[in-house]
Amino acid sequence: MKRASTFDVARALLAVPQSLLVRPSTNWFLTQYIRKFRVMDVGGNLILHSHLPPLNSKAYKRFVTEHLLSKDAGPSHVQIGLTNACPQNCEYCYSKDKKGKVMDTGRIIDLMRNLKQMGVFWIGFTGGEPLLNKDIARITEEASTDCAVKLFTTGCTLTPQLARDLKNAGLYSVSVSLDHWNETEHDAVRRYPGAFKTALRALEIFKEVGGIHIGVSAVLSRHMIQRHQADEYLGFLMTLGIHEVWLSEAKPSIPDMWQHASVISEEERTELCTLQDRYNKEGRITVNYLGHFEGKEHFGCAAGHKMVYVDACGNVSPCVFLPMSFGNVNERSIREIYTAMKKRFPTESRCFINENSPLLHKHYHGQSPMSEQDTVALMEEVRFAPMARFFKLHYS
Ligand code: SF4
Repeated sequence: MKRASTFDVARALLAVPQSLLVRPSTNWFLTQYIRKFRVMDVGGNLILHSHLPPLNSKAYKRFVTEHLLSKDAGPSHVQIGLTNACPQNCEYCYSKDKKGKVMDTGRIIDLMRNLKQMGVFWIGFTGGEPLLNKDIARITEEASTDCAVKLFTTGCTLTPQLARDLKNAGLYSVSVSLDHWNETEHDAVRRYPGAFKTALRALEIFKEVGGIHIGVSAVLSRHMIQRHQADEYLGFLMTLGIHEVWLSEAKPSIPDMWQHASVISEEERTELCTLQDRYNKEGRITVNYLGHFEGKEHFGCAAGHKMVYVDACGNVSPCVFLPMSFGNVNERSIREIYTAMKKRFPTESRCFINENSPLLHKHYHGQSPMSEQDTVALMEEVRFAPMARFFKLHYS
């Protein structure tokens, strides 16, 4: 692991002189935030964590010029489903009941071009298993011209050649899913014998190829959090020689999880935030806990405001975990759908899905994603919390 020098970080930040025009309170917040992490130099990319683009990238410059210097910018982050197909069958999968015609490559490329014009500088590919899209390298190449491109994968079907193609196409970061340090447990959650070995093999392939920021996407069940097993889990992940743990609690995306008991409490979230800060201070591995990045103390919930999810069939949702749809890009433009969606999402300090699973339960009628009509009916009942710290500073 190569740590970036303070000089390189300072040079990267100074290379975007427009940041001097950003209001001092926002710059102060960002400086304090950056200081909580050790910046890695991965193949020349200076990476804080993979929720943000490399500090020395065109995408980071766009973050400054198109978002920090504007109060009415569009989305910054998008996750796009490249397929619904997946050999694995995870208990908590948010994608498995989705039906419909998947977007072809031309549609995906057109969608990404429009999203970039609207402000998107970070694109995450998901699925299903995105590696099953035979055009993934071509799509990555198109995406990476001025965006940071990240892949979320189980590792299934990855070959050394495909990993090289993705790197050459501009992929900057990958997260391979690992739900448990115990092979039997992981395979059981994934309902796929060999899932654990597949994930470890994928990590080895990416390491051999080099130049890509490598992480593990680790989803903690509430049961694991309550038994304080996150530490044990992170201890295992540190043995894998990866750059980052993209950590999240299991989100209540599916009907089986819409009871209050499966949703994390504020005390449990705080515990994971403390864990993240401790690991990052030690500096042996980067821990990027979603609930800290999106907590009230940092950026809050960006669903539907800065964050957009387009599933493999073209349905537009505020977040990858939310089984809602504000429209389909096969029928209406992404700009039109996003504009209507953003009006309903002011950004808030709490995780939308963690707060609103009872409303999902109430308005869900067995169709995933929910119809536009059911989605709008749900939104009429939502009460948002105040904004998180960053957006309070940004919009004040
Ligand atoms: S709903 Fe939760 S997971 Fe989705 S963007 Fe908001 S904070 Fe993140």
